[in-house]
Amino acid sequence: MTDLTKLTLEAALGGMAKGEFSSVELTDAHIKACEAGGKLNAFITDTHELAREQAAASDARRVSLKKSGGEAGLLEGAPIGVKDLFCTEGVKTCAASKILGEFTPTYESTVTANMKADGMVMLGKLNLDEFAMGSSNETSAYGPSINPWRKDKDLVPGGSSGGSAAAVAADLCLGATATDTGGSIRQPAAFTGTVGIKPTYGRCSRWGTVAFASSLDQAGPIAKTVKDAAILLESMAGYDAKDSTSLNIDVPKWSGACGQSVKGLRVGIPAEYTVDGMPAEIQALWDKGVAMMKDAGAEIVPISLPHTKYALPAYYVVAPAEASSNLARYDGMRYGLRVDGKDLNDTYDRTRTAGFGDEVRRRIMIGTYVLSAGYYDAYYLRAQKVRSRIVEDFQNAWNSCDVILTPTTPSAAFPVGHKFSDPVQMYLNDIFTVTTNLAGLPGISVPAGLSADGLPLGLQLIGKALDEETVFKAASALEAAAGFTAKPEAWWA
Ligand code: GLN
Repeated sequence: MTDLTKLTLEAALGGMAKGEFSSVELTDAHIKACEAGGKLNAFITDTHELAREQAAASDARRVSLKKSGGEAGLLEGAPIGVKDLFCTEGVKTCAASKILGEFTPTYESTVTANMKADGMVMLGKLNLDEFAMGSSNETSAYGPSINPWRKDKDLVPGGSSGGSAAAVAADLCLGATATDTGGSIRQPAAFTGTVGIKPTYGRCSRWGTVAFASSLDQAGPIAKTVKDAAILLESMAGYDAKDSTSLNIDVPKWSGACGQSVKGLRVGIPAEYTVDGMPAEIQALWDKGVAMMKDAGAEIVPISLPHTKYALPAYYVVAPAEASSNLARYDGMRYGLRVDGKDLNDTYDRTRTAGFGDEVRRRIMIGTYVLSAGYYDAYYLRAQKVRSRIVEDFQNAWNSCDVILTPTTPSAAFPVGHKFSDPVQMYLNDIFTVTTNLAGLPGISVPAGLSADGLPLGLQLIGKALDEETVFKAASALEAAAGFTAKPEAWWA
């Protein structure tokens, strides 16, 4: 039998449907890969026993479905990794933070519940930056996940969904859940040669997902191909009455958009995304993307998003402000870590001091500062105004284009430790991704080439709100044209 871990999700689902192999065989192959991949530190918690049980149950379901003529679930029997930000019933969920300790939810996040209902087999909980704050996975209390793309030097897999991206790139799972508040799906996807999509805000329920910045957080998949990402997102998305920001609209069959012609599609190229100091190879990749879309029949339209340069500073005011409020709940009283002190305030103090890492503390302090009386107008209110201008920029752009093409990141993956002590350098990673979070739009990263050092680079496509269909169509055309088939050498196995 061929190595089952090399299959795409689509091919694996097809193979199981045809009876070529079972979910148990597929799951066992992935468990073996996970066991061999320990050096990548992609998983915080393994659930291999549970995965075997789920796989056996899935195989049994398939047998009875065959008899009844019923249809298999979207993810029937597929071994998937889950970012440790999604609450999973009976399985430790800690957001890579010491403050959640051994917290084991008694409930399931809506996103993972949807996937379980569709037949997902869960291999384990994936590493991330603490509370999803970071761009390199280095803020995790469990140590960084390592990018599979380089053996002579430890590179970051990006963040915050670094474990998800590393696991998919190294074929430890067929796909993974991730979340994106400012780029945490797309940037790690770009750093690891995988595909990652953040859908329109409100497509995926946030219920049961540990909150970072509620007006920006959105779940989405990291996958091996654009079509796999579409299949995963179809399962993850959908209305949920438990999240007041969840959109009550149907989930289209996005996988059907993959492979469709982009003839006549208007692709906008924003002048403002050419930033100072951008490496020549990033510009060259972008130019190559433009040429590929043109060759595929799209029309290239120069556009302007004039407030782009204010997006990053606005994001790093809004996101910490919301985080400081969301993280106030970790006080040692109800769940997670508790360090007893001499009185209530002292207990809060000791618990939070012991439980939060440096980056999370930095965000809480910045967030509390920008929300405080006297500074609120100067920072928070002003950032909200910038956010409105960014929304308007995109609205104006849609008059002349249907989708926007940009680089995903300003560089390829960097070495562990390289930017860790310089938060501003780290924050600059998000320069091309935060705008879509501020405007609530869908954005996808597609692997499109290799850097001079042989590392993957990604291109981003941004779509209109709720128009994931066009995003998938354009992404699949880009994927076909780029023909990115490179894989990292399996040095960790
Ligand atoms: N890197 C960004 C940050 O640290 C984005 C994180 C995310 O999308 N979760 O805020």
